[in-house]
Amino acid sequence: MTDSSAAQTTWERNPRSVALMERAQQRIPGGVNSPVRAFSSVGGKPLFLVKGEGCRVQDADGHWYIDYVGSWGPLILGHAQAQVNAAVAAALTSGTSFGACTEREIQFAETVCSRVPGCDMVRMVSSGTEACMSAIRLARGATGRDLIIKFDGCYHGHSDGLLVAAGSGAETLGVPDSPGVPAAIANLTLSLPYNDLGAVRAAFAAHDGQIAAVILEAVAGNMGCVPPDPGFLQGLRDVCTADGAVLIVDEVMTGFRVARGGAQERFGITGDLVCLGKVIGGGLPAAAYGGRRDLMSRMAPTGPVYQAGTLSGNPLAVAAGQTMLDLLDADGVYEGLERAGARLEAGIAAAIAKTGGGARVQRVGAMMGVYFRDAPVRNLDDARTCDVARFGRVFHELLARGVYIAPSAYEAGFIGAAHDDAAIDETITAWEGALAAS
Ligand SMILES: *Cc1c(COP(=O)(O)O)cnc(C)c1O
Repeated sequence: MTDSSAAQTTWERNPRSVALMERAQQRIPGGVNSPVRAFSSVGGKPLFLVKGEGCRVQDADGHWYIDYVGSWGPLILGHAQAQVNAAVAAALTSGTSFGACTEREIQFAETVCSRVPGCDMVRMVSSGTEACMSAIRLARGATGRDLIIKFDGCYHGHSDGLLVAAGSGAETLGVPDSPGVPAAIANLTLSLPYNDLGAVRAAFAAHDGQIAAVILEAVAGNMGCVPPDPGFLQGLRDVCTADGAVLIVDEVMTGFRVARGGAQERFGITGDLVCLGKVIGGGLPAAAYGGRRDLMSRMAPTGPVYQAGTLSGNPLAVAAGQTMLDLLDADGVYEGLERAGARLEAGIAAAIAKTGGGARVQRVGAMMGVYFRDAPVRNLDDARTCDVARFGRVFHELLARGVYIAPSAYEAGFIGAAHDDAAIDETITAWEGALAAS
C-alpha cells in the first residue's frame, strides 16, 4: 500500500522511530520480530514503544497513546500491572529457570483446570503456536488419523500444518499458505469457511473415519471479531462426537478474556482439548494445552505422544500468569470488562453513524473488531470485502489523536480493566475525528 498523507504525518511526527527502524532493518528481517508489527497493511513506518502504564503506551518520540493492542491480548489488566510486576520480581530472586519440577506449576495447573471447562489436565508450553501444534499431535496420536479441519481466517500459530489455505472446494485438501510449508503436510489439513456447518458435514462425509480433529477459534479474532453463529459450536461438538474426532477449541485469544472460563464457558460448549496462551502468561511467554484426562494421559511420559520444552512452566511466567488469573477472579472484573466493551462499542457505532456510516462494530466481551463495510461479517470472505484502504487512513488518524489500535484491518482490538471511562470516552472522540477525516 502506498503511504496516505495521514501515514506520512505519523512518520514525520516520529523521527526517532523512523531512525530506529532504519537501524533495525539492517539486522532484523523487516526490522520486526513478528510480521504484523511492520505496518505493512496500513502504510507508514512502525512506532517503537518504550513504556507502558495502565491502558497507555509511550513511543520513542515521547507521544502517549491509549492502547488497544495490549501486546496482542495478554495485557488484560494493563501495562506494568503492580501486582504482576511484584510477583515476577519475587520469583526472580529465586532463579529464572530450573528445568525441573516446581510446586507453583501444580498450583497453576489447578488454577487453570478450575476455570476452563473440560480441562482435567494441562501441559504448559511457551507459545500459542506450540500449544496448537501439540494439541494436534495429541489428537492424531489418540485417533490414529491424519486429517484435520481448520477454518479460513482462524489463526492457530505458524506451525506447518496450520499455515494452510483452502483448496479449490470445501471437500478439497488444503494448500500451503507460505513457501516452506510442504504440500504433503498442507494436504493433511482441510480449511473450511467459518460458521459453515454444512461444509464441515460434507468434509466429514467425504473423508469418513480419517479426520483426527477440528480446530477453531470459538470467537474468530484473527479476522477482526467474528462470533460463532448460534448452533455452530454445538454442531461441531455433535459432529466430532458422532465421528470420534477430537474437538480442539483454540482459546489462545479468548481464554480468560471473553469470560472467566473463556469462550467455552460463554457459549456453553466443551471441547476435548483446549489451547491457551496470551492472558495465561500474564505478559510473559507462556501458553498451555489441556483437556480430557484420557487424552492428556497419552502425552509423554505417561503415554507415547511426545512433546517437551526447556522453558515450559518457567517460574517467572507461572508467577505472572498465576497472579493475573488470581486478579481476574476479583469481584466484578468480567462485568467491568463487559461494561467497558459495551461503552466503547456504542460510542464507536454512534461515531460511525454521525460520520456517514460505511463501517460496523462487532464485539464479544473485551474483544472487538471494526469493519469498513455495512453488512455483518461471518467469515473470511465477508471480512475480505472491507475497505482496507480506509482502515489504513483511519488507523493513522487515530494515531495522530493518541489512540493505538492493531496495524491491520483483520486484527481484534482488546479492551482491558485499565481502560477507564475517561480513556474510553477519549477514544470515542478520537474515532469520531478520525472517521470524519478519512
Ligand atoms: C496468537 C494466537 C495464536 C498463536 O500464539 P503465539 O503465542 O503467537 O504463538 C494461536 N491461536 C490464536 C487464536 C491466537 O490468537
